[in-house]
Amino acid sequence: MFASLSDRLSATFSSLRGKGRLSEADISATVAEIRRALLDADVAVPAVRAFTAAVRERAASAEVSSSLNPAQQIVKIVHEQLIEILGGASRELNLAKRPPTVIMLAGLQGAGKTTLAGKLGSWLKEQGHAPLLVASDLQRPNAVNQLEVVGRQAGVSVWAPERGNGVGDPVQVARSGVEHAREKLYDVVVVDTAGRLGVDAEMMQQAADIRDAVSPDEILFVLDAMIGQDAVTTAQAFADGVGFTGVVLSKLDGDARGGAALSVRTVTGAPVLFASTGEKLRDFERFHPDRMASRILD
Ligand code: GDP
Repeated sequence: MFASLSDRLSATFSSLRGKGRLSEADISATVAEIRRALLDADVAVPAVRAFTAAVRERAASAEVSSSLNPAQQIVKIVHEQLIEILGGASRELNLAKRPPTVIMLAGLQGAGKTTLAGKLGSWLKEQGHAPLLVASDLQRPNAVNQLEVVGRQAGVSVWAPERGNGVGDPVQVARSGVEHAREKLYDVVVVDTAGRLGVDAEMMQQAADIRDAVSPDEILFVLDAMIGQDAVTTAQAFADGVGFTGVVLSKLDGDARGGAALSVRTVTGAPVLFASTGEKLRDFERFHPDRMASRILD
């Protein structure tokens, strides 16, 4: 495994102990270590560049601390900067003033959208909402079925096309699902959409058509944290093709260091709202920027 950034910085500074302040040379040596650590954590290059520039600036103007040695001081700056970029305090879901709130899920096939729909449904129900899951992924064989299964597990209703998998119009399913929610007083609609294995123009168009049909209050881009350096191109493609208001990082139970969080935030500016940490319904939590900062650093 990787040596933690804290350990590496301590090693960089071992010859400087007792000096008590950060010189230009100290900062340069440190920034080089930070760059390597972030790349090891799979943070994409443009995000690394933006981050190290911000740390350099912050370090140069940092007050000399009497209680921290230079290594500790830099680690503190890096930690604070990570939390700041990752979004500070977690933001709440954007709920419509007039229900139903529509939450659309977008992302590549296998990113974890259908699984997330069940988790979100379960979580919303716990929060006192009456959610409805809508099966607009008619691309992947079995996706409708899978949504019905997770809906049953979560005790949440599912709106699915009548004629089974692989047929029907996903835009129409989304539209009729929202109408159904309005009639039956479901107050939050979660629309599962189709992804492809890679970024694909037809898929983007379909997602954009669904977006236009149901005017979502939130579009959540579901990103597999294990995707590493590809996070930036994928996120950028979805930002351009569909647009999104928030990010859900999935598969954080894997050994990914979480660099994708920093990359996607830097490149698109969209906040990470939730984290998915396993295949079960309960493996789901609000995103905590401070925990992610520690994960990237340690
Ligand atoms: P979709 O194509 O985007 O709808 O992706 P799915 O929801 O079908 O998920 C793809 C695979 O990843 C399934 O086998 C899920 O069980 C699995 N999966 C989804 N979220 C997580 C997660 O947070 N952790 C782990 N380990 N597996 C996940």
